[in-house]
Amino acid sequence: MDGLYGDSTRSVKAVSPEEIPGAPIAAPPVPAAAYHIPSSEDDSLDSYGRYHNPTWRQLESALAELEGAAAALAFGSGMAAITSVLRALVKPGATVVVPADGYYQVRRYATDSLSRQGVTVIEATCAEMVDAATAADVVLAETPSNPGLDVVDLHHLAMTCRNRGAILVVDNTTATPLGQQPLSLGADLVVGSATKMLSGHHDVLAGYVAGCHTEQIAAIENERRLTGPILGALEAWLVLRSIGTAGLRFERQCQNALAIAMTLHSRPAVRSVRYPGLTDDPSHEIANRQMKRFGGIVAVELENAAAVHSLVHNSELFVFATSFGGIHSSVDRRARWGDPVPEGFARISAGIEDTDDLITDLEQALG
Ligand SMILES: *Cc1c(COP(=O)(O)O)cnc(C)c1O
Repeated sequence: MDGLYGDSTRSVKAVSPEEIPGAPIAAPPVPAAAYHIPSSEDDSLDSYGRYHNPTWRQLESALAELEGAAAALAFGSGMAAITSVLRALVKPGATVVVPADGYYQVRRYATDSLSRQGVTVIEATCAEMVDAATAADVVLAETPSNPGLDVVDLHHLAMTCRNRGAILVVDNTTATPLGQQPLSLGADLVVGSATKMLSGHHDVLAGYVAGCHTEQIAAIENERRLTGPILGALEAWLVLRSIGTAGLRFERQCQNALAIAMTLHSRPAVRSVRYPGLTDDPSHEIANRQMKRFGGIVAVELENAAAVHSLVHNSELFVFATSFGGIHSSVDRRARWGDPVPEGFARISAGIEDTDDLITDLEQALG
């Protein structure tokens, strides 16, 4: 039935608790460190705050619903979710593939921390992912990649992993579950940062894991209990509250991102633009097959760092800030963070402002 609904309806339904007469329509947050234990000492009840929380469960059911997963687990940040999955699934002596052109801290964690524990780490770009997977036990893919917005053919990658018996984990942060559903394309697990579009207001950090295999989810949940990278109940509630408007916000962000990409594309001073929704983008064909929407991020290369600074300085609507997926449009110069990109490379995140206002502002800021 839910498959028949549009994304805004699904977002609203995902955060709607069971209808109980007299109960609030919106689930209230439940901050709790310890719970009353019955004399039967029943293990299935909530007992301690590092193990259980009713607000996590509300959020996890919303996330599972949006990802098309059987279960989801909430974490204190995207990195907490990703590193917990890797710790739970990657055994000493195993080979893990991580994105060479994806989120830089995942790569750093793998090379600094996992390789010290006898794990072989292979870094592969989107284009190299399928080949690299033929030698792997666990593959972490990111598509579209952050910040370059290259795309991996997820169905092809999932088939390759399946033939080899490797576990495929997909970071769905940039696409969002409203843009693409990796589990339906054959991935075993999805990880994501809910700090970005899902929370969407630049005011909370959160992460999640979603999947369909009970043993994998149980192993990751056990890792969360033991190491404690948990999400506060109030933060879980903020994300939950935001998910209700995710469909609406994301639709506008995707519309704004396409308009921004087309405007930049038409400018001779712009060296290159990547957006999987542009019909002449090298990723468009695969993106069009596996993505429902092309996302709210545009990657652009201007002449140099000064050109990025001047764009931000001359704009009234784009803020100079990192992260993406929030209500404000923003510009981040990624070389600042050590991403392997040119000095004039900027990741632009489309906010929810009116499209005409953003484009007018961008055109005057480009001069
Ligand atoms: C931001 C981001 C992360 C990390 O998420 P945090 O919530 O900042 O820990 C992981 N992967 C991708 C693709 C990201 O953009």
